[in-house]
Amino acid sequence: MVARIVPVDPFDLVVFGATGDLARRKLIPALYHRLHDGQMPDEARIVGAARGELDRDGFRRMADAALEEFVGAGELDPDARRRFLSTIDYVRLDALSSDGWGQLSAALPDADERPRAFYLSVAPRFFGQVAERVHGAGLARPDSRIVIEKPLGHDLASARALNACFAGHFGEHQIYRIDHYLGKETVQNLMALRFANALFEPLWNARHIDHVQITVAESVGVEKRGPYYDGIGAMRDMVQNHLLQLLCLIAMEPPARFEPDAVRDEKLKVLRALAPVTDLEAVVRGQYAAANGTPAYAADAESAESRTETFVALKTEVANWRWSGVPFYLRTGKRLRARVSEIAIAFKPAPHSIFPGSAGRTGQNVLAIRLQPDEGITLGMTIKDPGPGGLRLAPAELDMTFADRLAQAHLRMPDAYERLVMDVIRGDQTLFMRGDEVEAAWAWVDPIIAAWDERGDRPAPYDPGSSGPEDALMLMHRDGRRWREIAA
Ligand code: NAD
Repeated sequence: MVARIVPVDPFDLVVFGATGDLARRKLIPALYHRLHDGQMPDEARIVGAARGELDRDGFRRMADAALEEFVGAGELDPDARRRFLSTIDYVRLDALSSDGWGQLSAALPDADERPRAFYLSVAPRFFGQVAERVHGAGLARPDSRIVIEKPLGHDLASARALNACFAGHFGEHQIYRIDHYLGKETVQNLMALRFANALFEPLWNARHIDHVQITVAESVGVEKRGPYYDGIGAMRDMVQNHLLQLLCLIAMEPPARFEPDAVRDEKLKVLRALAPVTDLEAVVRGQYAAANGTPAYAADAESAESRTETFVALKTEVANWRWSGVPFYLRTGKRLRARVSEIAIAFKPAPHSIFPGSAGRTGQNVLAIRLQPDEGITLGMTIKDPGPGGLRLAPAELDMTFADRLAQAHLRMPDAYERLVMDVIRGDQTLFMRGDEVEAAWAWVDPIIAAWDERGDRPAPYDPGSSGPEDALMLMHRDGRRWREIAA
């Protein structure tokens, strides 16, 4: 397997909030890898813009330290490291005043016709001001891009306000809303699997699929982010964006072309077809309790009476011809047994067994798409237990673990941000959410949160290291189904 690298044109990327966590942990390492692999040209310009009192050399030292910490000193190539750092500039600037904006203009020579992108790696409360000042300072050209990431509002009304605020200065074709799950190799492979193979499409419907499970489990709690997380919760933080986006990719109709609006139109139809949750029994909320020296969520959040959920499990349906009657079970939570993100498509059993009872049962075919850890796809099959003797049936897996194949080819599994940032530069919005998608997702989530608020009870406590509250297991047991194990 050979990774083909198509270099992008020299570009200007302004990272607002370049001294923050996201920039240091994700963006700077991602850009380094792209330069190292020959995709980002040495002539590209990365301009860090933040409030920190740094000059260019100081910021380069900070970026270098970020590479050392998040790429790993052993994996850094000295030549690429030097070339990468020389693409970096820094402007000290305040999002809330005119301080520094003139210097930013000067750092982006106007004669340049190259792609220009503004990455807003700052708190969402600054989004409006930054967008306005980018525009006001005359930095935005008709094809300049602006990049933002969750949280994109905290309900439908605020998401609409945010969309309206950007629409005041930028066209929809310029706005790149990141959901980093969509940049994961396996998620793109899900699309390749569905739409580049004739095998699955005839089976991809209510006649053949029994149910779909999507799990995004974290083993860590909210840790120091407790006070920030409180009042947000798993429904807003994870379900509204990541889990619903994954659901869309499974459930959408084949787009006519793999083009941004063709794909996003189909995803939007899925969101609009989601059956409203009217029965609160179909939505389980949990909050992790204390155990073995780890504090309960309420202590982490510094809010003894907190009603914020750190776990959600729910059942929904895509109400259209293809999916009628197929339950989609979604589950996400913190401080669970393991860190694992997985989509499982469970097919209906064989309609009739020709084998004698002594051969054992035919199993259920499950297509499991694992996003982390160990990205890969497996297909659970029933085979004959190998060896002489009678015919006995046994489960086996067709394993397409990409990490193994990449390792054999001495390739590294790229981080989602590497792909997404290069897509911004190329001007390809396929893997980014459109404003109407974000609003449709909030429109579905809002009534559930409102119903919880109205009921006013607290989420069910669950043990750290477990798979969530008992009620989440019951959600599937009632339907005669089981969740897959949360196991790394
Ligand atoms: P952070 O608090 O670590 O960094 C914020 C940055 O903003 C710093 O560089 C700071 O100097 C700059 N800043 C603050 N006030 C400013 C001002 N008035 N003018 C100019 N710059 C100012 O935040 P973060 O964790 O890097 O998150 C940035 C954004 O990305 C947020 O919107 C966050 O929700 C989102 N996000 C972060 C992560 C993550 O992994 N950290 C993941 C998903 C989304």
